[in-house]
Amino acid sequence: MKIAIAGSGAMGSRFGFMLHQAGNDVILIDKWDAHIKAIQENGLTVNYNGTEKVINIPIYRPDEVKEKVDVIFMFTKAMFLGSMLEEIQPIIKEDTQVVCLLNGIGHETVMKQYVSLENMLIGVTIWTAGLTGPGKIELEGTGSTEIQNFKPGGEEKAKQIVKILKDAGLNGIYSEDVKFSIWRKACVNGALNATCTLLDATLGEMFETDQAISITKNIVNEFVQVAEKQEVQLDFEDTVEYIIKTSHELGHHYPSMHQDLMQHNRLTEIDYINGAVARLAEEYGLKAPTNALITELIHAKEQILNAK
Ligand code: NAD
Repeated sequence: MKIAIAGSGAMGSRFGFMLHQAGNDVILIDKWDAHIKAIQENGLTVNYNGTEKVINIPIYRPDEVKEKVDVIFMFTKAMFLGSMLEEIQPIIKEDTQVVCLLNGIGHETVMKQYVSLENMLIGVTIWTAGLTGPGKIELEGTGSTEIQNFKPGGEEKAKQIVKILKDAGLNGIYSEDVKFSIWRKACVNGALNATCTLLDATLGEMFETDQAISITKNIVNEFVQVAEKQEVQLDFEDTVEYIIKTSHELGHHYPSMHQDLMQHNRLTEIDYINGAVARLAEEYGLKAPTNALITELIHAKEQILNAK
């Protein structure tokens, strides 16, 4: 099975590493020069649950790779999904399966422009991964990855990819309703990521404030209403309770958006989380003022910090 990882930062490298260890023929694709150089010269250095390993794995820039592949896992940041798909068109053959595991909502709209519906899979992963420098990743904890074929009829191929994920220890799950899981994760991220970033706070610090619960309820309420229009039934009480529980369990943790923007001055995926809800609400004639304001504040912060 020839597999390409398109976008080989933290998560792309995790998937690339674990799929490679399981015996698949894996190539990484990325645009970050220092990262490509480090992996080409010294291999990918992986701190895997405390043990350091180095693997030799091919990595290319998108315009360098021409050989067709069987499966592609997309792991760019959301705003670069379309440009990556455009650049890797030469490696997509008639039956190449393209799996989108980015966080956020609405990626199928972008995918459809470059991939036929029969070959599109969408999903969500709750694994985590961190980059510690060019060519270096740190992997800990456990997780799972749910996927589903976008178009009915693609179940068998989707289940083959689930098996590849299982065999690699990535705990693949075939989902009958992946849209629900995608929305639920986006809602949890929507309540915690941008708020902690704007407050420059850990989850625990945010939830010690008197305002945390009411802010969370406003965000979740808007997600629930927009999700319903998309035929996704998010339960308001259950989601709020889950977010509060998460904030206790990961109290010392800064969400990934905080790390991206405040610690590394990088652009955020806000337009695909809170921003997506604000945009869809407008389309449906609903109101999502909290998500709209949060989106604007994050964009303002990106400009203040000259994020790239
Ligand atoms: P990432 O930022 O590590 O990598 C994305 C891209 O940015 C890659 O092309 C990478 O090479 C490049 N990049 C990273 N650091 C850079 C730097 N300092 N300078 C220049 N380029 C740099 O992103 P990720 O965490 O792998 O996320 C990919 C997708 O997976 C996103 O949609 C994210 O929300 C989702 N996701 C991530 C995690 C996680 O724990 N990392 C968990 C679940 C879902």
